[in-house]
Amino acid sequence: MLPALALAAVVTFATFALEGCRMSQNSDAPTQPVATSQVKGGGDDPRSMHARAILIDMHADTVQRMIDEGADINTRLADGHLDAPRMKEGGLDAQFFSIWVEPQYFGGGGKSAVERADKQIAAVRALAEQHPETWELATTAADIRRIAAAGRLAALMGLEGGYAIDERLENVEKYYRLGVRYMSPAWSVSLSWAGSSGDAAGETRGLNEFGRAVIREMNRLGIMVDVSHVSDQTFWDIVETSTEPVIATHSGVRSIVNVPRNLTDDQLRALARTGGLCAVVFYPRFIEPGWQEAQARVDAEIAPLVAEASRTANGTPAQKKLARDRVREREYAKRLPPVSVARVVDHIDYIVKLVGVDHVGVGSDFDGIQSVPHDLSTVADFPNLTAELLRRGYSESDIDKILGGNMLRVMEEVERPTGGQSGSTGK
Ligand SMILES: [Zn+2]
Repeated sequence: MLPALALAAVVTFATFALEGCRMSQNSDAPTQPVATSQVKGGGDDPRSMHARAILIDMHADTVQRMIDEGADINTRLADGHLDAPRMKEGGLDAQFFSIWVEPQYFGGGGKSAVERADKQIAAVRALAEQHPETWELATTAADIRRIAAAGRLAALMGLEGGYAIDERLENVEKYYRLGVRYMSPAWSVSLSWAGSSGDAAGETRGLNEFGRAVIREMNRLGIMVDVSHVSDQTFWDIVETSTEPVIATHSGVRSIVNVPRNLTDDQLRALARTGGLCAVVFYPRFIEPGWQEAQARVDAEIAPLVAEASRTANGTPAQKKLARDRVREREYAKRLPPVSVARVVDHIDYIVKLVGVDHVGVGSDFDGIQSVPHDLSTVADFPNLTAELLRRGYSESDIDKILGGNMLRVMEEVERPTGGQSGSTGK
Protein backbone atom coordinates (compact mmCIF):
# COMPACT_ATOMS: atom_id res chain seq x y z
CA MET A 1 0.00 0.00 0.00
CA LEU A 2 1.29 3.46 -0.85
CA PRO A 3 2.08 5.73 2.11
CA ALA A 4 -0.59 8.20 0.99
CA LEU A 5 -3.20 5.47 0.95
CA ALA A 6 -2.06 4.17 4.31
CA LEU A 7 -2.43 7.65 5.75
CA ALA A 8 -5.85 8.03 4.16
CA ALA A 9 -6.91 4.71 5.71
CA VAL A 10 -5.75 5.79 9.16
CA VAL A 11 -7.50 9.14 8.90
CA THR A 12 -10.64 7.46 7.59
CA PHE A 13 -10.65 4.92 10.39
CA ALA A 14 -10.14 7.62 13.00
CA THR A 15 -13.01 9.63 11.57
CA PHE A 16 -15.20 6.56 11.40
CA ALA A 17 -14.37 5.48 14.93
CA LEU A 18 -15.32 8.88 16.25
CA GLU A 19 -18.53 9.33 14.37
CA GLY A 20 -19.87 5.89 13.75
CA CYS A 21 -21.65 5.62 10.53
CA ARG A 22 -23.92 2.47 8.98
CA MET A 23 -25.83 -1.07 9.24
CA SER A 24 -27.52 -4.31 10.08
CA GLN A 25 -27.49 -7.45 12.13
CA ASN A 26 -29.89 -10.28 12.65
CA SER A 27 -30.30 -12.81 15.38
CA ASP A 28 -32.79 -13.76 18.07
CA ALA A 29 -34.34 -11.21 20.35
CA PRO A 30 -35.08 -11.05 24.04
CA THR A 31 -38.04 -8.79 23.27
CA GLN A 32 -41.34 -9.60 21.58
CA PRO A 33 -41.40 -8.15 18.08
CA VAL A 34 -44.61 -6.49 16.99
CA ALA A 35 -45.83 -6.93 13.42
CA THR A 36 -44.74 -3.85 11.55
CA SER A 37 -47.79 -3.13 9.42
CA GLN A 38 -49.27 0.13 10.50
CA VAL A 39 -52.81 0.12 11.81
CA LYS A 40 -54.63 3.44 12.04
CA GLY A 41 -57.57 4.10 14.30
CA GLY A 42 -58.45 3.24 17.89
CA GLY A 43 -57.60 0.26 20.04
CA ASP A 44 -55.28 -0.37 22.95
CA ASP A 45 -52.97 -2.83 21.30
CA PRO A 46 -49.35 -1.72 20.85
CA ARG A 47 -49.68 -1.32 17.10
CA SER A 48 -52.67 1.01 17.31
CA MET A 49 -51.01 3.01 20.06
CA HIS A 50 -47.83 3.27 18.01
CA ALA A 51 -49.74 4.36 14.92
CA ARG A 52 -51.59 7.09 16.84
CA ALA A 53 -48.40 8.64 18.18
CA ILE A 54 -46.51 11.23 16.15
CA LEU A 55 -43.06 9.70 15.72
CA ILE A 56 -40.14 12.01 14.96
CA ASP A 57 -36.64 10.66 14.32
CA MET A 58 -34.12 13.41 14.97
CA HIS A 59 -31.23 12.11 12.85
CA ALA A 60 -30.57 10.01 9.74
CA ASP A 61 -27.73 10.21 7.20
CA THR A 62 -29.82 9.03 4.25
CA VAL A 63 -29.17 12.09 2.08
CA GLN A 64 -25.57 11.01 1.51
CA ARG A 65 -26.92 7.77 -0.01
CA MET A 66 -29.31 9.71 -2.18
CA ILE A 67 -26.49 11.82 -3.57
CA ASP A 68 -23.51 9.46 -3.67
CA GLU A 69 -25.37 6.25 -4.60
CA GLY A 70 -28.43 7.64 -6.33
CA ALA A 71 -30.67 5.83 -3.82
CA ASP A 72 -34.35 6.55 -4.51
CA ILE A 73 -36.01 6.46 -1.11
CA ASN A 74 -39.47 6.62 -2.63
CA THR A 75 -39.08 2.96 -3.51
CA ARG A 76 -38.43 0.06 -1.17
CA LEU A 77 -34.66 -0.36 -1.08
CA ALA A 78 -32.98 -3.73 -0.58
CA ASP A 79 -30.38 -2.19 1.71
CA GLY A 80 -29.97 0.78 4.01
CA HIS A 81 -32.23 1.70 6.88
CA LEU A 82 -34.76 4.16 5.54
CA ASP A 83 -37.17 4.67 2.65
CA ALA A 84 -40.74 5.89 2.31
CA PRO A 85 -42.43 2.43 2.24
CA ARG A 86 -40.58 1.34 5.37
CA MET A 87 -41.26 4.67 7.11
CA LYS A 88 -44.97 4.05 6.58
CA GLU A 89 -44.68 0.47 7.85
CA GLY A 90 -42.86 1.65 10.93
CA GLY A 91 -45.24 4.53 11.64
CA LEU A 92 -42.44 7.09 11.32
CA ASP A 93 -44.12 10.43 10.58
CA ALA A 94 -41.22 12.86 10.49
CA GLN A 95 -37.55 12.51 9.66
CA PHE A 96 -34.84 15.07 10.30
CA PHE A 97 -32.31 14.47 7.53
CA SER A 98 -28.73 15.26 8.43
CA ILE A 99 -27.02 17.75 6.15
CA TRP A 100 -23.53 16.51 6.80
CA VAL A 101 -20.32 17.88 5.37
CA GLU A 102 -17.35 15.54 5.86
CA PRO A 103 -14.44 18.01 6.37
CA GLN A 104 -11.89 15.42 5.23
CA TYR A 105 -13.45 15.36 1.76
CA PHE A 106 -15.12 18.76 1.46
CA GLY A 107 -13.18 21.02 3.81
CA GLY A 108 -14.01 22.58 7.15
CA GLY A 109 -15.32 25.65 5.33
CA GLY A 110 -14.98 27.32 1.95
CA LYS A 111 -16.66 26.74 -1.39
CA SER A 112 -16.73 22.96 -1.49
CA ALA A 113 -18.12 22.63 2.06
CA VAL A 114 -20.88 25.10 1.18
CA GLU A 115 -21.62 23.30 -2.09
CA ARG A 116 -21.80 19.91 -0.37
CA ALA A 117 -24.35 21.22 2.17
CA ASP A 118 -26.37 23.04 -0.47
CA LYS A 119 -26.51 19.95 -2.68
CA GLN A 120 -27.93 17.89 0.19
CA ILE A 121 -30.52 20.54 0.99
CA ALA A 122 -31.52 20.63 -2.67
CA ALA A 123 -31.96 16.83 -2.61
CA VAL A 124 -34.33 16.98 0.38
CA ARG A 125 -36.30 19.84 -1.14
CA ALA A 126 -36.52 17.95 -4.46
CA LEU A 127 -37.91 14.93 -2.64
CA ALA A 128 -40.84 17.01 -1.43
CA GLU A 129 -41.31 18.85 -4.73
CA GLN A 130 -41.23 15.73 -6.91
CA HIS A 131 -43.30 13.46 -4.65
CA PRO A 132 -45.90 15.70 -2.96
CA GLU A 133 -48.24 12.73 -2.55
CA THR A 134 -45.71 11.20 -0.14
CA TRP A 135 -43.44 13.93 1.22
CA GLU A 136 -43.71 17.49 2.40
CA LEU A 137 -40.94 19.74 3.64
CA ALA A 138 -41.68 20.68 7.26
CA THR A 139 -40.12 23.50 9.25
CA THR A 140 -42.48 23.78 12.22
CA ALA A 141 -44.22 21.57 14.77
CA ALA A 142 -47.55 22.58 13.22
CA ASP A 143 -46.29 21.35 9.83
CA ILE A 144 -45.43 17.97 11.33
CA ARG A 145 -48.85 17.61 13.00
CA ARG A 146 -50.67 18.56 9.79
CA ILE A 147 -48.57 16.33 7.51
CA ALA A 148 -48.84 13.36 9.88
CA ALA A 149 -52.62 13.80 10.14
CA ALA A 150 -52.80 13.67 6.34
CA GLY A 151 -50.91 10.37 6.34
CA ARG A 152 -47.89 11.80 4.57
CA LEU A 153 -44.23 11.99 5.56
CA ALA A 154 -42.56 15.12 6.91
CA ALA A 155 -39.01 15.84 5.78
CA LEU A 156 -36.94 18.14 7.98
CA MET A 157 -33.29 19.19 7.96
CA GLY A 158 -30.50 19.66 10.47
CA LEU A 159 -26.94 20.78 9.77
CA GLU A 160 -24.44 18.36 11.30
CA GLY A 161 -21.45 20.60 11.87
CA GLY A 162 -21.23 24.31 11.08
CA TYR A 163 -18.61 23.94 8.34
CA ALA A 164 -20.92 25.33 5.65
CA ILE A 165 -21.50 28.46 7.73
CA ASP A 166 -17.98 29.28 6.51
CA GLU A 167 -17.40 31.57 9.50
CA ARG A 168 -19.97 34.10 8.27
CA LEU A 169 -22.81 34.94 10.61
CA GLU A 170 -25.17 35.82 7.75
CA ASN A 171 -24.99 32.22 6.54
CA VAL A 172 -26.91 31.08 9.63
CA GLU A 173 -29.94 32.91 8.26
CA LYS A 174 -29.24 31.57 4.77
CA TYR A 175 -29.66 28.04 6.10
CA TYR A 176 -32.70 29.01 8.15
CA ARG A 177 -34.33 30.31 4.96
CA LEU A 178 -33.48 27.07 3.16
CA GLY A 179 -35.39 25.17 5.85
CA VAL A 180 -32.70 24.01 8.29
CA ARG A 181 -34.11 23.82 11.82
CA TYR A 182 -31.25 22.50 13.91
CA MET A 183 -27.48 22.76 13.80
CA SER A 184 -24.70 21.07 15.70
CA PRO A 185 -21.85 23.62 15.75
CA ALA A 186 -19.23 20.86 15.26
CA TRP A 187 -19.24 17.32 13.92
CA SER A 188 -16.15 15.16 14.69
CA VAL A 189 -13.68 17.84 13.61
CA SER A 190 -13.28 21.04 15.66
CA LEU A 191 -13.76 24.46 14.08
CA SER A 192 -11.97 27.65 15.06
CA TRP A 193 -15.16 28.70 16.84
CA ALA A 194 -16.43 25.41 18.33
CA GLY A 195 -14.66 22.36 19.81
CA SER A 196 -15.67 18.82 18.85
CA SER A 197 -15.85 15.71 21.05
CA GLY A 198 -13.99 13.91 18.25
CA ASP A 199 -10.50 15.40 18.13
CA ALA A 200 -7.64 16.60 20.30
CA ALA A 201 -8.44 20.31 19.77
CA GLY A 202 -11.84 19.74 21.35
CA GLU A 203 -10.26 18.57 24.61
CA THR A 204 -9.74 22.20 25.54
CA ARG A 205 -11.79 24.18 22.99
CA GLY A 206 -15.25 25.56 23.62
CA LEU A 207 -17.03 28.42 21.83
CA ASN A 208 -15.16 31.61 21.03
CA GLU A 209 -16.93 34.97 20.63
CA PHE A 210 -17.97 34.15 17.06
CA GLY A 211 -19.31 30.78 18.25
CA ARG A 212 -21.41 32.50 20.90
CA ALA A 213 -22.69 34.93 18.25
CA VAL A 214 -23.73 31.91 16.12
CA ILE A 215 -25.72 30.48 19.04
CA ARG A 216 -27.44 33.83 19.64
CA GLU A 217 -28.27 34.09 15.93
CA MET A 218 -29.74 30.56 15.99
CA ASN A 219 -31.85 31.57 19.01
CA ARG A 220 -33.00 34.72 17.20
CA LEU A 221 -34.04 32.86 14.06
CA GLY A 222 -35.49 29.75 15.67
CA ILE A 223 -32.87 27.11 14.81
CA MET A 224 -32.44 24.50 17.54
CA VAL A 225 -28.92 24.03 18.93
CA ASP A 226 -27.71 20.39 18.80
CA VAL A 227 -24.91 19.31 21.16
CA SER A 228 -24.52 15.69 19.97
CA HIS A 229 -20.97 16.02 18.62
CA VAL A 230 -19.55 18.98 20.52
CA SER A 231 -16.80 18.93 23.14
CA ASP A 232 -17.69 19.11 26.81
CA GLN A 233 -16.42 22.69 26.98
CA THR A 234 -18.53 23.64 23.94
CA PHE A 235 -21.53 21.95 25.56
CA TRP A 236 -21.24 24.12 28.67
CA ASP A 237 -20.62 27.28 26.63
CA ILE A 238 -23.76 26.53 24.60
CA VAL A 239 -25.89 25.95 27.68
CA GLU A 240 -24.60 29.21 29.14
CA THR A 241 -25.21 31.19 25.93
CA SER A 242 -28.47 29.81 24.59
CA THR A 243 -31.71 31.40 25.73
CA GLU A 244 -33.70 28.58 24.09
CA PRO A 245 -34.02 24.83 24.80
CA VAL A 246 -30.92 22.84 23.78
CA ILE A 247 -31.10 19.32 22.31
CA ALA A 248 -28.85 16.34 21.61
CA THR A 249 -30.16 14.79 18.39
CA HIS A 250 -28.33 11.42 18.51
CA SER A 251 -26.47 10.62 21.72
CA GLY A 252 -26.66 8.23 24.66
CA VAL A 253 -25.90 8.15 28.37
CA ARG A 254 -22.23 8.33 29.36
CA SER A 255 -22.92 6.60 32.70
CA ILE A 256 -23.92 3.49 30.69
CA VAL A 257 -21.30 3.71 27.92
CA ASN A 258 -18.36 6.00 28.56
CA VAL A 259 -17.73 7.63 25.17
CA PRO A 260 -17.36 11.36 24.44
CA ARG A 261 -20.42 11.24 22.12
CA ASN A 262 -22.64 10.45 25.12
CA LEU A 263 -23.82 12.86 27.81
CA THR A 264 -22.89 12.90 31.48
CA ASP A 265 -25.56 13.07 34.16
CA ASP A 266 -24.70 16.74 34.76
CA GLN A 267 -25.10 17.44 31.04
CA LEU A 268 -28.47 15.64 30.91
CA ARG A 269 -29.64 17.70 33.90
CA ALA A 270 -28.44 20.88 32.17
CA LEU A 271 -30.32 20.03 28.94
CA ALA A 272 -33.46 19.42 30.98
CA ARG A 273 -33.06 22.79 32.72
CA THR A 274 -33.04 24.51 29.31
CA GLY A 275 -36.31 22.73 28.49
CA GLY A 276 -34.55 20.60 25.88
CA LEU A 277 -33.98 16.86 25.52
CA CYS A 278 -31.64 14.05 24.56
CA ALA A 279 -32.75 11.97 21.56
CA VAL A 280 -31.27 8.52 22.12
CA VAL A 281 -29.08 7.08 19.35
CA PHE A 282 -29.35 3.44 18.18
CA TYR A 283 -25.65 2.81 17.40
CA PRO A 284 -24.40 -0.19 19.46
CA ARG A 285 -21.01 1.51 19.92
CA PHE A 286 -22.68 4.22 22.00
CA ILE A 287 -25.35 2.16 23.77
CA GLU A 288 -23.96 -1.33 24.47
CA PRO A 289 -21.29 -1.65 27.20
CA GLY A 290 -18.16 -3.38 25.85
CA TRP A 291 -19.20 -3.09 22.20
CA GLN A 292 -16.58 -0.54 21.17
CA GLU A 293 -13.77 -2.75 22.53
CA ALA A 294 -15.12 -5.73 20.55
CA GLN A 295 -15.48 -3.47 17.52
CA ALA A 296 -11.83 -2.43 17.76
CA ARG A 297 -10.78 -6.10 17.66
CA VAL A 298 -12.96 -6.74 14.61
CA ASP A 299 -11.71 -3.58 12.89
CA ALA A 300 -8.15 -4.90 13.20
CA GLU A 301 -9.22 -8.27 11.74
CA ILE A 302 -11.08 -6.80 8.78
CA ALA A 303 -8.66 -3.97 7.94
CA PRO A 304 -7.38 -5.76 4.79
CA LEU A 305 -10.96 -6.34 3.54
CA VAL A 306 -11.86 -2.71 4.13
CA ALA A 307 -8.71 -1.49 2.38
CA GLU A 308 -9.41 -3.77 -0.58
CA ALA A 309 -12.99 -2.48 -0.90
CA SER A 310 -11.69 1.07 -0.86
CA ARG A 311 -9.03 0.29 -3.48
CA THR A 312 -11.41 -1.42 -5.91
CA ALA A 313 -14.37 0.98 -5.54
CA ASN A 314 -14.77 3.53 -8.30
CA GLY A 315 -15.72 7.11 -7.79
CA THR A 316 -15.25 9.97 -5.36
CA PRO A 317 -13.75 9.71 -1.86
CA ALA A 318 -17.31 9.86 -0.48
CA GLN A 319 -18.29 6.89 -2.68
CA LYS A 320 -15.21 4.95 -1.57
CA LYS A 321 -16.22 5.59 2.03
CA LEU A 322 -19.62 4.02 1.33
CA ALA A 323 -17.84 0.95 -0.13
CA ARG A 324 -15.73 0.62 3.01
CA ASP A 325 -18.79 1.05 5.22
CA ARG A 326 -20.58 -1.74 3.38
CA VAL A 327 -17.77 -4.18 4.24
CA ARG A 328 -17.84 -3.09 7.88
CA GLU A 329 -21.59 -3.51 8.02
CA ARG A 330 -21.38 -7.06 6.64
CA GLU A 331 -18.47 -8.13 8.85
CA TYR A 332 -19.83 -6.55 12.06
CA ALA A 333 -23.08 -8.47 11.54
CA LYS A 334 -21.09 -11.70 11.30
CA ARG A 335 -18.49 -11.06 13.99
CA LEU A 336 -20.10 -8.97 16.76
CA PRO A 337 -22.76 -10.05 19.27
CA PRO A 338 -26.30 -8.80 18.56
CA VAL A 339 -27.65 -5.78 20.43
CA SER A 340 -31.35 -5.40 21.23
CA VAL A 341 -33.90 -2.57 21.21
CA ALA A 342 -34.01 -3.18 24.98
CA ARG A 343 -30.61 -1.49 25.20
CA VAL A 344 -31.96 1.64 23.49
CA VAL A 345 -34.74 1.68 26.09
CA ASP A 346 -32.17 1.30 28.89
CA HIS A 347 -30.81 4.69 27.86
CA ILE A 348 -34.29 6.20 27.57
CA ASP A 349 -35.15 4.78 30.99
CA TYR A 350 -32.02 6.17 32.56
CA ILE A 351 -32.76 9.67 31.28
CA VAL A 352 -36.39 9.45 32.42
CA LYS A 353 -35.32 8.42 35.95
CA LEU A 354 -32.70 11.19 36.05
CA VAL A 355 -34.61 14.17 34.64
CA GLY A 356 -38.17 13.04 33.84
CA VAL A 357 -40.11 11.84 30.82
CA ASP A 358 -40.27 15.31 29.24
CA HIS A 359 -36.60 15.39 28.26
CA VAL A 360 -36.00 12.38 26.01
CA GLY A 361 -36.61 11.48 22.37
CA VAL A 362 -35.25 9.27 19.58
CA GLY A 363 -32.45 9.94 17.08
CA SER A 364 -31.56 6.72 15.24
CA ASP A 365 -28.55 7.80 13.13
CA PHE A 366 -29.91 5.34 10.55
CA ASP A 367 -27.89 5.17 7.32
CA GLY A 368 -24.98 6.65 9.23
CA ILE A 369 -24.07 3.58 11.31
CA GLN A 370 -22.65 0.22 10.25
CA SER A 371 -24.38 -1.72 12.99
CA VAL A 372 -27.90 -1.51 14.39
CA PRO A 373 -29.93 -3.36 17.03
CA HIS A 374 -31.13 -6.58 15.40
CA ASP A 375 -34.77 -5.84 16.27
CA LEU A 376 -34.51 -2.13 15.46
CA SER A 377 -32.63 -2.58 12.22
CA THR A 378 -34.57 -0.20 9.95
CA VAL A 379 -37.33 2.41 10.33
CA ALA A 380 -39.85 -0.40 9.74
CA ASP A 381 -38.95 -1.79 13.20
CA PHE A 382 -40.01 1.29 15.20
CA PRO A 383 -43.08 -0.53 16.61
CA ASN A 384 -40.63 -2.77 18.51
CA LEU A 385 -39.44 0.31 20.40
CA THR A 386 -42.99 1.12 21.46
CA ALA A 387 -43.55 -2.52 22.47
CA GLU A 388 -40.46 -2.44 24.68
CA LEU A 389 -41.56 0.84 26.30
CA LEU A 390 -44.97 -0.72 27.02
CA ARG A 391 -43.29 -3.82 28.43
CA ARG A 392 -41.41 -1.56 30.86
CA GLY A 393 -44.67 -0.04 32.04
CA TYR A 394 -44.71 3.29 30.22
CA SER A 395 -48.19 4.78 29.73
CA GLU A 396 -49.53 5.80 26.34
CA SER A 397 -49.11 9.49 27.18
CA ASP A 398 -45.47 8.93 28.22
CA ILE A 399 -44.82 6.99 25.03
CA ASP A 400 -46.35 9.82 22.98
CA LYS A 401 -43.89 12.23 24.59
CA ILE A 402 -40.87 10.00 24.03
CA LEU A 403 -41.69 9.22 20.38
CA GLY A 404 -42.35 12.80 19.31
CA GLY A 405 -44.40 14.87 21.76
CA ASN A 406 -41.35 16.22 23.56
CA MET A 407 -39.77 17.28 20.27
CA LEU A 408 -42.95 19.04 19.17
CA ARG A 409 -42.92 20.95 22.47
CA VAL A 410 -39.26 21.97 22.00
CA MET A 411 -39.86 23.01 18.39
CA GLU A 412 -42.84 25.16 19.39
CA GLU A 413 -40.79 26.85 22.05
CA VAL A 414 -37.83 27.53 19.75
CA GLU A 415 -40.17 28.81 17.02
CA ARG A 416 -41.15 31.64 19.36
CA PRO A 417 -37.81 33.21 20.17
CA THR A 418 -37.66 35.24 23.35
CA GLY A 419 -34.13 36.55 22.86
CA GLY A 420 -34.76 38.98 19.99
CA GLN A 421 -36.55 39.77 16.80
CA SER A 422 -37.64 36.73 14.81
CA GLY A 423 -36.48 35.88 11.29
CA SER A 424 -38.16 37.72 8.47
CA THR A 425 -39.25 34.61 6.55
CA GLY A 426 -42.06 33.71 8.91
CA LYS A 427 -42.19 30.58 10.98
ZN1 LIG B 1 -23.47 12.13 13.87
